[in-house]
Formats: sequence, structure tokens, C-alpha cells
Amino acid sequence: MMPGPDVVVACPHCGAPHLLRSLATGNTLGIAGWTDGWCEEPPMALRPPVFSRCVSCHELFRAAESRRLGDLTERTAPHEESVTRVTLAHAGQRRAEVMHLLSRELGKSPTEARRMLDKLPAPLGAWSEDVAGRLAKRLVELGARVSLESTTAQSTRSVLPSEWKEAPRLEHPTEAELQFVLRENLLRPPAWEWEARQHLWWMSNAPHHQGASWRSPWRRTRAVLSNMHVLAHLVTSDSDENRLLRVEAFRELEKRDEALALLDSAPFPAHLAYIADFLRGHLREFDFEVRRLPPPP
Ligand SMILES: [Zn+2]
Repeated sequence: MMPGPDVVVACPHCGAPHLLRSLATGNTLGIAGWTDGWCEEPPMALRPPVFSRCVSCHELFRAAESRRLGDLTERTAPHEESVTRVTLAHAGQRRAEVMHLLSRELGKSPTEARRMLDKLPAPLGAWSEDVAGRLAKRLVELGARVSLESTTAQSTRSVLPSEWKEAPRLEHPTEAELQFVLRENLLRPPAWEWEARQHLWWMSNAPHHQGASWRSPWRRTRAVLSNMHVLAHLVTSDSDENRLLRVEAFRELEKRDEALALLDSAPFPAHLAYIADFLRGHLREFDFEVRRLPPPP
């Protein structure tokens, strides 16, 4: 899976632009999933945060609810610029000084500058009116004759606002910030609460996704334990995915009877049935560790 261009979103409180990572659509088949719903791709750093703190007004907001302003794909627009062309018509008596001036101002070697003077009139270049005027004035002071011609030049320029390019990136919330929004009941409806609690669950299980030996939630912090208890009972919808993840929360909490009862309360559709069977097998063996899922049949 490849990262796409950064998306620019506005803080819903103050409008300050922030950057949000986006993922170009990629193939997720064959990517290892875990019983707690964690998937190894994309890595956390590439996922949009559940919610973030605005760098400007310091309010918390849900990244998914923020207004999209655009993305950071570079775009240019044709642009017409008025420029002044300077042509050297005659070098005058102080030819060597004119040559040095051209060499210095135009970045030419002395030989190149001399060749220019040998073939007059010579176009020197085009600049904005004041830059061209300054160069012409110095040449005239040395006794040279120049002509100025106003014209327009086609160019392109970036249409991305500079405050977008300099916008801070939305960061993932810290564990303390997640606990704060949950305590303050800032996450309604329950699906938002689920997202925040699932993020906490994954943070707590992250060492085990990376191979650390299992440490029961009962031996982690009180906050971790209470988060898992809430998750196990948090019904966000009548979806089978939600029920399966609640089974897993009960399993990791070593609540074997509750896990089995929820698992067997209704059949699972075919694409989830193999995961249900996998969890059932581990529950029968009194295995409560988070597990990497087998590949789908
Ligand atoms: Zn703000």
C-alpha cells in the first residue's frame, strides 16, 4: 500500500489547515490481521489519527469530521508576467568597464561578455521593470546605449496556498489525550467511542503484535483493563464485526464463558466464520493471547 498525497483539512474550531496522510488505494489481500482487529498494513504512522489536537487553537477534533480543503498535489497555473527586455545597442567608449559589468551582472565569463560586445545589438535578458531599469541605468552611466522594451512573458506558478505547504501534520493522540476525551464524553455516537477505545487497545497490544511475550491485561494498567471491559460491552451496531471484536475483548480478559456465549449467540457470515472458529479453538484451549489470524480459506 502506497501513501497518497497529503490531504489538507481545516480545524472545525478555528479553520487552521493541517495535513492528513492519505493512502493511495492498495491491495490489502494477504496482509496479516490479528484477532484484536489490528492489521499490519498500513503502519500506524500512515493511518489517519482518530482525533487530534489543533496546533493553532489547541482544541481536539476528529480528523474524519474535519472539512477537507484539498490535497498537496502540486498544481501550477499559467501565469502572465510583464517583463522589460534590455538590449545593448552600443558599448560606448568604456568598453572594458561595460564588459566587466555584464560579466558580473549576467554571470558571464569575460570571454562570453566580450563576444556579446562584438555582436551588437545584443539582447541581455528580461527582468521586472525595476531590475531592468537598474541595469540599464548603470550601463548608461558607463556611456553605453541601451533600449528597453516592455512585454509579457508566459510562466507557470504554484496555485497551492503557502499556508497549506507549511501546515502541521495531524498527530495521533497520546494515551492521556484518548483517556481525556473518553472521560469527558466527547465521543458520541458509540462508533466514535469504539474507534478511540480500539486505538487504546491496539496501543496496549502493540508490543505483542511485534513479538513480545504475552502479558495479560490484568497485569497491565488499570486504565488498560477498564478500557477492555468497556470495549467488551460496547455495542456500536448490530454488525458481526463488532460482535467478533467484543468476543476477542472477552477472550483477552480471560472471560471464557462470556466470550463463548457471545460467539455462539448467532452464526457468522462466511467471511468471518473462519475467524470465529479460530477464536473458538483458542478459547477451548484456554488460550487468551492476541493471535495473528490464519489466512482466509
Ligand atoms: Zn483550531
